Amino acid sequence: MTPVLELAGVGKHYPGGVVALDSVSLEIESGELVAIVGPSGSGKSTMLNIIGTLDLPSRGTVRLGGLDVTTLSDRRLSALRGKWLGFVFQQFHLTDGLTAAQNVATGLLYAGVPRRRRRALALEALDRVGLSHRVDHLPQQLSGGERQRVAIARAVVNDPALVLADEPTGALDTVNGQAVLELLRRLNNDGTTIAVITHDRDIAASLPRRIEMRDGRLVADTRAGSLV
Ligand code: ADP
Repeated sequence: MTPVLELAGVGKHYPGGVVALDSVSLEIESGELVAIVGPSGSGKSTMLNIIGTLDLPSRGTVRLGGLDVTTLSDRRLSALRGKWLGFVFQQFHLTDGLTAAQNVATGLLYAGVPRRRRRALALEALDRVGLSHRVDHLPQQLSGGERQRVAIARAVVNDPALVLADEPTGALDTVNGQAVLELLRRLNNDGTTIAVITHDRDIAASLPRRIEMRDGRLVADTRAGSLV
C-alpha cells in the first residue's frame, strides 16, 4: 500500500550554513500513531513544516499519498493540505469570536462542503471528542483541555489522511495533557493516522512508534515491542 507520507533524502539548509535537516528518510503508513521526538533545535519544527507542505525542502522528495508535493503549484498544494492534512497546535489556534461548532466547521471551508452540512459534520466531530455539551460555547468559555479537544475535532472533521499534532499537550496540565493523549489514541484506534511532534520523551515513550531526531538527523525509529 502507498504510505501516507514518504520523505526521501530530505534536507533543509538555511543561509549561513545551518543544516536544519540532513537527509531524512522515513515512511508513515496509514493507521499509524507516531511520535517525532527530539530536543529543542533537533529539527522537529522544520520537519513539521515540510511534512505539512508549509515549507519546501532544499533537497529530497516529500510524497503525500504517493504525490510528490515539491512539484505542485501553490494552489494545488493548499487544496492538498485542506484535504489530506489536519493540524493541531500547542496553543490551540481557535478563533475567538466563533463557537466550538463554528471553529470546527472552519476545517471544512476548503473542502467544498455546503454550509448546512458543515454544521452537521462539526457536531459529529465534537461528539467524537466528547464535547457535545459545549457546541455553542466560545473558546473563552472553555478550559484549556476543552479548547484542545475542539482543535482536535477541527483537525479530524474532514477525515484527513494524516493529523499533525505539534506539542499538543504543551500548554496543558498533566491531567488534561493525559486526556488529550488518550483522545489521540482513541481516534487512532478508530483509524486516524497521527504524528505527534514533541520534545517530551515520556509522551514519545507512550506511543507505538518513535522517530527520534538529533541535530537534523533521524537517529532512531523504534516500534513498541521491537528489540532494536
Ligand atoms: P526544533 O523544532 O526541534 O526545536 P527547529 O526545526 O526549529 O528545531 O530548528 C532546527 C535548526 O534549524 C536549529 O539549529 C535552528 O536554529 C535552525 N533554524 C530553524 N529555522 C531557521 C531559520 N528560519 N533560519 C535559520 N535557521 C533556522
